[in-house]
Order: sequence, then C-alpha cells, then structure tokens
Amino acid sequence: MKIEIIKCLKDNYSYLLINEKNNNACVIDPSESKPIIDVVEKKNINLKFILNTHHHYDHVGGNIDLKKKYGLNVVGFKYDKDRIPEIDILVEDNQIWTNEDFESKIIHIPGHTTGHICFYFEKEKIAFTGDTLFSLGCGRIFEGTYKQMFDSLNKLKKLPLETKIYCGHEYTFKNSIFCKKHDENNKNLKNKIIEIEDKLKNNLPTIPSTIGEEIACNIFLRAKNLEDFSKLRDLKDNF
Ligand code: ZN
Ligand code: FE
Repeated sequence: MKIEIIKCLKDNYSYLLINEKNNNACVIDPSESKPIIDVVEKKNINLKFILNTHHHYDHVGGNIDLKKKYGLNVVGFKYDKDRIPEIDILVEDNQIWTNEDFESKIIHIPGHTTGHICFYFEKEKIAFTGDTLFSLGCGRIFEGTYKQMFDSLNKLKKLPLETKIYCGHEYTFKNSIFCKKHDENNKNLKNKIIEIEDKLKNNLPTIPSTIGEEIACNIFLRAKNLEDFSKLRDLKDNF
C-alpha cells in the first residue's frame, strides 16, 4: 500500500491509499474533487471508494463529483447516513470493513462530531484520524462532550505506538506553539518541533506523525484526566 498526500482547500489533507498491485485506491476525506481527479488521472489510479471520517463540508466536498465521475462507493458511519453525501456503505463501531483490496477497522471516536470515525488499517499500521487527533492537537468539540473527546483520544492512544497518523488538516505548527507553552520542558516536543519546522521550510507536509510521537509530545494526549483535558481544550479554543 502506498499513500499519496493531496493538499486541498486552505489547509486540508485528503489521502489516496493505493493498492500497488492493481492501482485500486480509496480516497480519504476528499475536501474537493479537482485536486483528487488530477492525481487519479495522472497516475492512472482506479478510484474505488471514498472513506469519510465525518460529515463536515471540508471532508466530503468532493463526494458528489467523484461518485459521478468514477462510480465509486462512499463509506461512512451509519448514523451519519443523512449528512454524508452519496453514502452507500454504512459502517459501525468496531466493524472490520473489508473487500478484495482493503481492510480497515472502524473506530467510533465522537467529540468533534457525534458520528466521527477513524479508519484503522491494522496490517499497514495506518490510522486516518480526521479532525479528532491532529499532530500535536485535537479537534474542537462541536457536537460531543469533553468526556467523549477525551475517551476517543484514549482509544487512539491504545493503538500500537508505531501506527502512522494521517489527519485532516495541516495545523501542526500552530499546535506546536500551544504545546510548547504548556509543556516547556518536554525534550521530545522540542525535537519534534525542529523536525516540523524543517519540513515546513521545505514545503513538505508534517504528516504522518505516529501514535508514539503524539503520546510523547501532544499536550492533549498527555492530559492526566478529564479535568485537565477540558481546561486545555478551553484554552486552545481561545488561543
Ligand atoms: Zn471537521
Ligand atoms: Fe476539517
């Protein structure tokens, strides 16, 4: 499996997960269709599925166009069936979604939205975390509770440390400033910030991160309890 990172809109990332044996692919969270179509056409990719982590426009904006053009299937959380455009494969928590090319575990991680899911490709050790876990940050709590978001992050923390994290936005630099402010003496964080700055200087994505790096550096994963987490989330909302 190979991953292509595709920049969309202002700071979104969509991802192509490509089975290199036959060029069959899924696209995760196509914010818009044009940048996806450009890569698909250029690389002769057979786009088979859209995987949506949640229903927000900047994650599903390309669904209608891409389905029309490629006749693919759209995979999303079953309770979001009325708000994910063109959804036709409904998945639920803990389900293994599988077909000839791909196998992903579905992990329900509510908080940012009530229907947010993570696509976890266990064999490849890859997780698409949408707007729940960012590198050095976490999503705003729009629909869920602090407790739901805290529990969702704890679920992700249990994935193997080497699991690669592909999230929905390039927010890493701004997140790093917040982490630094609240975790000044964290050496791992300092080292990660050097890496991030280097990548950004060279116009490269800071993604993927790993669960291990996030546990070591992400202040929201380092919060000891729900109370600490909630305080940090409030501070970040006004940062
Ligand atoms: Zn969102
Ligand atoms: Fe988003």
